[in-house]
Amino acid sequence: MQLPPYVSETLSTLESAGFEAYVVGGCVRDSLLGLEPHDFDLCTNALPEQIAEVFATKTVIPTGIQHGTVTIIMDNHPLEITTYRTESGYHDHRHPDTVQFVSTIEQDLSRRDFTVNAMAYHPIRGIVDPFGGAVDIEKRLLRAVGDPKQRFEEDALRILRALRFASVYGLEIEEKTKQGLLACAPLLTGIAAERAQAELKRMLTGEHINKAIYDLYPVLFPILPELKATQGVEQHSRYHHLDVLMHILTAVASAEPDMTVRLAALLHDIGKPLCFSLDDQGNGHFYGHAEIGERMARDRLCRLRFDNKTIDDVCLLIRYHDTTIERTDKAVRRWLNRLGLPLLRQLLALKRADTMAHAVELMHDRLKELDDINERINRLLAEKACFSLKDLAVNGNNLLNIGIPKGKAVGKCLRWLLDEVMEQRLENDTAVLLEAARKRLDYFAKKR
Ligand code: ATP
Ligand code: MG
Repeated sequence: MQLPPYVSETLSTLESAGFEAYVVGGCVRDSLLGLEPHDFDLCTNALPEQIAEVFATKTVIPTGIQHGTVTIIMDNHPLEITTYRTESGYHDHRHPDTVQFVSTIEQDLSRRDFTVNAMAYHPIRGIVDPFGGAVDIEKRLLRAVGDPKQRFEEDALRILRALRFASVYGLEIEEKTKQGLLACAPLLTGIAAERAQAELKRMLTGEHINKAIYDLYPVLFPILPELKATQGVEQHSRYHHLDVLMHILTAVASAEPDMTVRLAALLHDIGKPLCFSLDDQGNGHFYGHAEIGERMARDRLCRLRFDNKTIDDVCLLIRYHDTTIERTDKAVRRWLNRLGLPLLRQLLALKRADTMAHAVELMHDRLKELDDINERINRLLAEKACFSLKDLAVNGNNLLNIGIPKGKAVGKCLRWLLDEVMEQRLENDTAVLLEAARKRLDYFAKKR
């Protein structure tokens, strides 16, 4: 394992002062997985005050001094150093009531959640791996340290961390650990929304999301109860071979690893259970499910404290996931105007994922239609097509100069011109547009 100089220097400074120190946790796991660690955490038998003393000439921040963690700044890099400790209590299934400083690295490693996270490394002494984390990495296995059920009861966030690690690193969850997750999932209702949301987001962007959802979906029910309501809802349609929940999960697993697209896929059909009807021929319909689903999704995402942009984007994707996009340049320009380029691409990605979760008969033609729309977008962009006010060959100042009165009239006139250009009734040319505006000066000048 290659350590950056500021990390090895910190280790040797602690050791020259008579203490023992290791890098630990995520950075050891990532190195063994062949990935570049994104940060390095250290642990040591020095007590927090002793760490502060050793680094007296450096900036020392008492990050969580009562838990034994201080942050020091080494060559402009923040480094967390934690005193060997164990934890106990956990009355809220999340936080330990007490932490106790201990004297050996092995004791410290035993409080950590998964074997792959419970390894330490020292440049001379090598790896410390009392729970077989290295073998588990080789076998691509995620296994709890100790008794899984007990570990998830202590801290229920570990349940979502497990799904995240499975999804991000493509690890299989070991059988007993899986049983523990499923048994303890109801405890997730007590987890802070922000923490659940952060883990869900990271899980959703994993390249191996199928490892986290297909047989573990009940774990998501406590944080997304709307999903549970889709389980067993049959669709009575020749286009659907799966119940609503399995359709949703297949769509998520088929979607590209983009957080917004995956989150929209996860929620796109939650309105269905409330909208089901059967016609005389025995075909199922879900009229209005996109709009109802959008409202339910907004409510849930607000409760989970997602940021406004994510909520708004996901809601628009859900609203339009089932709306046909006509295969004409005119229609595509309208969609570009309505959603903007990034969100329209995300809508097409969601539609693709949704299609992949339908019966195969339909799939081929639908995917071809979506390809066609993407190609149209590419061509329109290459032709510098106009689909937003900033693409228009005139701006507000140009309109003021020809006598359009200051205020609302300017915006109205710009929007009218954009409409005319998108409908190809006017050419996107400054002189042409100003001439057209001049002709309607009276109309836009009128106070309404
Ligand atoms: P990443 O930094 O990529 O999120 P990580 O595993 O490093 O992953 P951190 O939250 O940085 O996660 O935690 C560092 C280490 O602390 C972990 O590797 C693990 O050993 C331990 N740890 C973190 N959270 C928990 C927890 N809830 N329960 C037990 N051990 C934990
Ligand atoms: Mg980390």
